[in-house]
Amino acid sequence: MKKQVTIIGSGIVGATIAYYLSADPTLSVTIYDEGIGQATKNSAGIISPWLSKRRNQRWYQLAKAGAALYPEIVADTQMGYSVYQQAGTIVTRSNAADLQALYDLAIERRKVAPQIGEIEKLTAAEVQQRIPLLTNPQPGVFISGGARVDGDKFAHNLLKYAEKRNLVRHKGKVTLGDQGQLMTPHGQQNYDTLILAVGAWLKPMLLPMHIVAKVRPQKGQLIELQLPETWGDDVPVLMPEGERDFIPFTRSKLVVGATHENDQGYDLQVSDLVEDDLFASGYKLDQNLTKAQISQVKVGTRAYTADFAPFFGALPDNPHILMASGLGSSGLTTGPIIGKLLADYVLTGAHDWDQYQLPIETYLEDAD
Ligand SMILES: Cc1cc2nc3c(=O)[nH]c(=O)nc-3n(C[C@H](O)[C@H](O)[C@H](O)COP(=O)(O)OP(=O)(O)OC[C@H]3O[C@@H](n4cnc5c(N)ncnc54)[C@H](O)[C@@H]3O)c2cc1C
Repeated sequence: MKKQVTIIGSGIVGATIAYYLSADPTLSVTIYDEGIGQATKNSAGIISPWLSKRRNQRWYQLAKAGAALYPEIVADTQMGYSVYQQAGTIVTRSNAADLQALYDLAIERRKVAPQIGEIEKLTAAEVQQRIPLLTNPQPGVFISGGARVDGDKFAHNLLKYAEKRNLVRHKGKVTLGDQGQLMTPHGQQNYDTLILAVGAWLKPMLLPMHIVAKVRPQKGQLIELQLPETWGDDVPVLMPEGERDFIPFTRSKLVVGATHENDQGYDLQVSDLVEDDLFASGYKLDQNLTKAQISQVKVGTRAYTADFAPFFGALPDNPHILMASGLGSSGLTTGPIIGKLLADYVLTGAHDWDQYQLPIETYLEDAD
């Protein structure tokens, strides 16, 4: 009889787990998703962790490994440029000393992260040459390893790939009983391994088991604009100083975002004020933008922990229940590697993930 692995949540973590588990024909894999506020579907798409000022070394190692994994998955599944493209990243600084410091940091980090690729210090005019949309460019540092990904399409493609092998997908909300029983829209289901890839919803998911996951939701909004001009596949992502990120996707889609709104719970309402603010941010960089070009405002819910770090692994008292959460604002970067590490554990029973995170107990406590 095939071993039953059930995954809850089909965001980037759940989809990557399904993709890797689909390599094993002795498994029967099922995924459930309720289809609410998914972060992955509503994300901006920047994969460029190397110049981050975060001091958490475990997170940095994880994010670095995540960025390095993308080209491998993309090549194996033959995803095109509209899904993922390593077009590079430009990070701008108006002050010459800050720009030099950023450049030096990139050179230093490349010694142990060759994925950063080429590093160039660019004048404002050179930045504008690389991103012709800009009418108000600043000088910046270009790194060729930076990438953009359409998280929604990436997860969708992985799920389609896995469906051709051993994955069965269901739509609907699931809940757990106090002993970890799985209640689905089709009644109670058995499993050998259950994986909770539910992002910001881990806390409500575990509460019936009297476990509190120390994760809070954070609302994120971004705007998508459809522009009359088109550009090539190789226009870099812009991470401007003090402004929202500016992400030109292929074929005239521009994303400007995103917000980080605490204390909004799981709210998914589009806010006109925030939309205006996001547009103003984009307009500062490209004065040809008009509000009429906004084709969509996207809203998603990120999962945050107190130390802004993700966590993943098995429940301390139940090795049959695995989980991942707390991916925060860099979850497109860390999601695939977390998915791979969890899938490897299911396939081999071994793991070496302690190098990437604090013990999972850090993020869980007894409800009683
Ligand atoms: C606006 C925005 C911009 C972002 N930009 C970036 C970026 O540029 N770069 C980057 O690296 N990261 C970015 N992120 C972060 C990244 O998108 C997330 O960290 C990541 O997608 C989280 O993935 P996940 O699989 O953990 O969760 P999710 O994608 O949220 O998936 C969880 C899924 O679980 C399902 N679920 C929950 N509870 C249940 C239940 N009871 N039953 C069934 N299904 C359930 C939900 O429906 C959901 O689909 C951004 C996020 C947002 C919101």
